[in-house]
Amino acid sequence: MVRPSTSPGTSVPFDDDARQTARNAADKHRRPALARTIADRRLGAYRGYSELLDAIERLGERGARLKQIGNSVKGEPLFCVYIGSEAPKARTSVVLAGVHPIEWIGIETCVHLLERLAGEDLGDRAVIAFPMVNPDGLMRVEENLRAGGRRFIRHNAHGVDLNRNFDAHWGERGWFQRLLPWIFAPGKAAASEPEVASIGFELSERRIDRAISLHSFGGAVLYPPAHTVWPIPDYAEHRAWAKVIARGACKNAYTALPCSWWSWGTTQSGLELDWFHVRHGAVSLLIECEGGPSFSFSRLTTPFAWFNPLELSRVSAQVASAALPFIRGDSLEHAAT
Ligand SMILES: [Zn+2]
Repeated sequence: MVRPSTSPGTSVPFDDDARQTARNAADKHRRPALARTIADRRLGAYRGYSELLDAIERLGERGARLKQIGNSVKGEPLFCVYIGSEAPKARTSVVLAGVHPIEWIGIETCVHLLERLAGEDLGDRAVIAFPMVNPDGLMRVEENLRAGGRRFIRHNAHGVDLNRNFDAHWGERGWFQRLLPWIFAPGKAAASEPEVASIGFELSERRIDRAISLHSFGGAVLYPPAHTVWPIPDYAEHRAWAKVIARGACKNAYTALPCSWWSWGTTQSGLELDWFHVRHGAVSLLIECEGGPSFSFSRLTTPFAWFNPLELSRVSAQVASAALPFIRGDSLEHAAT
């Protein structure tokens, strides 16, 4: 595994450099606004890679600290955002987004969540967010959209499904995962991919007690396990949080279920959902933001439209609001009222 050059748990000394690196990457990939390019296809007002980099870099103006944690397979900088306590041993909430690059709504929701968190007093809690886990995949999705294509893109530049590459029961693949190895490609070894290894290294010395990964399009809040159907020991706490967030995320209430139950008993290994729980002991949730109803032939035949709702502002604001109490460290009793 190639180790990123910076040390885990340190952030401030890298701040200015990281913001400049983000600005450089945004300039390098600068294109006309994505929303304008795809407007006539009714795909929503989604921002492109460089626009999202701008938004993440601007979090620095609100007190967030940006850190480069490594580079993707194709050399794109990988960033995380620190908000709240700077103490290395602070209790820590983690947010991941963009693990699957076509699930753009998760990134928009993550940025929205961070913009709100950056203005809050988090006391002795730290929040560490990885808003664009898979930049190479994102650029492929964007390229395809701009070219008018309809491709389904899930992997990093090595063809690996990053959400099967985490070091949690990696190798214990269920039958469904074995049946479709080109979709759920787990990589050569656990954390073989730089995007996943960088996250693992950055978090290796943190006290993580809460974690959320943002995906789409199932309209669900999932909790461990993914690798087995047998309930986890701290099932009740996970279920309670999942229900609170599910209720808050949408007036039509998202489903709250163990991941393997939600997928009809099919088990999967190497998920971040299990990794945060097994390796860090965190309450770990995976939010499947809702996708969009597909009213038109164009939307029905465009995978981006399946994963990303037209009502970007509403969904990102509602899911961010629902997740906010969990991430900022509120008690379950407080959040439930
Ligand atoms: Zn996903």
